[in-house]
Amino acid sequence: MSDIIRLLPDSVANQIAAGEVIQRPASAVKELLENAIDAGAQHIDLVIKDAGKTLIQVTDNGCGMSETDARMAFERHATSKINSVNDLFSIRTMGFRGEALASIAAIAQIELKTKKVEDELGTCIIIEGSEVKSQEFCQCQSGTTFMVKNLFFIVPARRKFLKSNTVELRHILEEFQRVSLAHANISFSMFNDGKAIFQLRPCSLKERIVAIFGQNFNKRLIPVEQEMESMSITGFVGKPEFAKRVRGEQYFFVNKRFMKHAYLNHAVDNAFDQLLPEKSYPAYFIFIDINPEEIDINIHPTKTEIKFQDEKVMYSVLRSAVKASLGKFSITPSLDFSKDPTLDFTMPSKDTPIRQPSLKLDPNYNPFGYAKKEPSMRETSNLQNWENLYPDRNTGDEEFQPAKIVVEQALQVKADLGNEDSTPDNFFQLHHSFILTQVKSGLMVIDQQNAHERILYERYLNLLGNRKALSQQELFPVKISLPPAEAELLHDLIDELNLLGFHIEPDTSKSFQFRVNGTPSGLKQTDIVGLIEGIIDNYKTNMLELNLDKRYNIARSLAKNLSIKRGKKLQQLEMKSILESLFACQVPDISIDGQAVIRIIPLDRLLNFDMDQSEQNPNNRS
Ligand code: ADP
Ligand code: MG
Repeated sequence: MSDIIRLLPDSVANQIAAGEVIQRPASAVKELLENAIDAGAQHIDLVIKDAGKTLIQVTDNGCGMSETDARMAFERHATSKINSVNDLFSIRTMGFRGEALASIAAIAQIELKTKKVEDELGTCIIIEGSEVKSQEFCQCQSGTTFMVKNLFFIVPARRKFLKSNTVELRHILEEFQRVSLAHANISFSMFNDGKAIFQLRPCSLKERIVAIFGQNFNKRLIPVEQEMESMSITGFVGKPEFAKRVRGEQYFFVNKRFMKHAYLNHAVDNAFDQLLPEKSYPAYFIFIDINPEEIDINIHPTKTEIKFQDEKVMYSVLRSAVKASLGKFSITPSLDFSKDPTLDFTMPSKDTPIRQPSLKLDPNYNPFGYAKKEPSMRETSNLQNWENLYPDRNTGDEEFQPAKIVVEQALQVKADLGNEDSTPDNFFQLHHSFILTQVKSGLMVIDQQNAHERILYERYLNLLGNRKALSQQELFPVKISLPPAEAELLHDLIDELNLLGFHIEPDTSKSFQFRVNGTPSGLKQTDIVGLIEGIIDNYKTNMLELNLDKRYNIARSLAKNLSIKRGKKLQQLEMKSILESLFACQVPDISIDGQAVIRIIPLDRLLNFDMDQSEQNPNNRS
């Protein structure tokens, strides 16, 4: 048998390596921006076409390259940044692996123009798929311009894996934001398909955050500072009240390099401890500056993961630094005596007597089991629970259509209500959270927030399907500026939101800015900016978790944001109006999260309460 092992040609080896370093246009953007920074540039321009698929161009005014260096730069493992293994432990540059340019050159067409300040003429090199097509002297500015055209043209299979332009552009924006946040002293610009997206002057970190994420961030940031011998922590955390339901603006930089680090993430979350509602995430922009000897960034080709020599120490230092800042700005959990104590009410746990009636429900019923389905389907499938609210009903009747049941039940409760003289003082509010009233069969308990969400949800769905809602003009149009990704989402939603009574228009003079000229009439919320942001956040979460259709998603996000919450004291008339609107709904009994809105405690349950309890205590069963 003849020998079969061969050495791969460089071009193939480079293509394989490229797969690790350059997964998508955004990875090339990152490498080129970092090279410009390492070259000491004070000004860096990024130009993108077609979400980077046809063109990525980075121009810097850094040190430039000599003729020989320009050619060398594309060799694999060619770098000017380290000489020996020891240098790995004192890295202060962004790059050091000498792989990026070789990788990009293996899969794209590159035109490089570069000139050192002291040189008269620059060098222009054209490379396609690792092959040098031409090299000549040229006239150009001091510094370097890389043009990367048709990324992945050599590996069409990989090109096919790229996502839509919207998605790829979002990745590029993210990389651009990371690099420009870490280097506020450098000016950056970014153009996409001829449109200016960012023009960032040199400034302080706070100003850079505001320039990227919008004016709103000005009031939201708390500085963090911790100086130690071998390390310092600086940056900002967002005030807890602006935490979002999706992990959004969370940035760690170690020696100016953006890092993913779940453990440190946890340290910050932990510092916020009691300050945040469940499942919400604070913003942060934290810079750790540490002696390079104490870290290892060499563990991943894209250099976004890092190992600390002593992670536990890092964790506690970071946690206490954030805690200290929150404390200094007196944002710590404390007893607030001005607060109505009944508001601190927490839902009773499963085995407390007050929730006994709900044990009647199917114990296997999991509202979230349906959560991923299309909402109307979820609603019908949950309708069976309605029957459980009425133990006397003949539930064996297979012929009942679920939709019919609901209407009938709703009618029955309505009739029940009608039978009593439902004067306003027939309602009782429990813990500012539940509306209690008597019905023929017993006591009806309504979760006010679930109820109101349901009411608003159906109202908005209706409006989206029909006609334009009434809108009230804002006296002074409210300006909103959003981070690019969110701005894009809002662009997508404007038509529907305007159908619901908003009057939002993009500000044509500035990208990512909008004007809100009107809001749905009757809207009491005064924080319009917060409202719009809340809706976008919610929409994003729904998109990720529930995969909802746009119309359902908007109706849901709006309902969630505008509903009356648990803990709000209601007047008799308000309670009455909620009940009336609720029973006008198509699915009054199921909340938009698939939970019960209405519970009825039948009279006989109340009469036999003690017996029930022992009956339903599993410990008493044999
Ligand atoms: P690394 O950055 O890891 O050294 P790269 O492949 O990204 O590897 O770059 C190879 C070399 O090319 C760098 O070490 C640097 O000397 C040179 N280089 C790359 N980009 C630039 C630039 N914009 N200006 C000056 N020199 C550059
Ligand atoms: Mg590099």
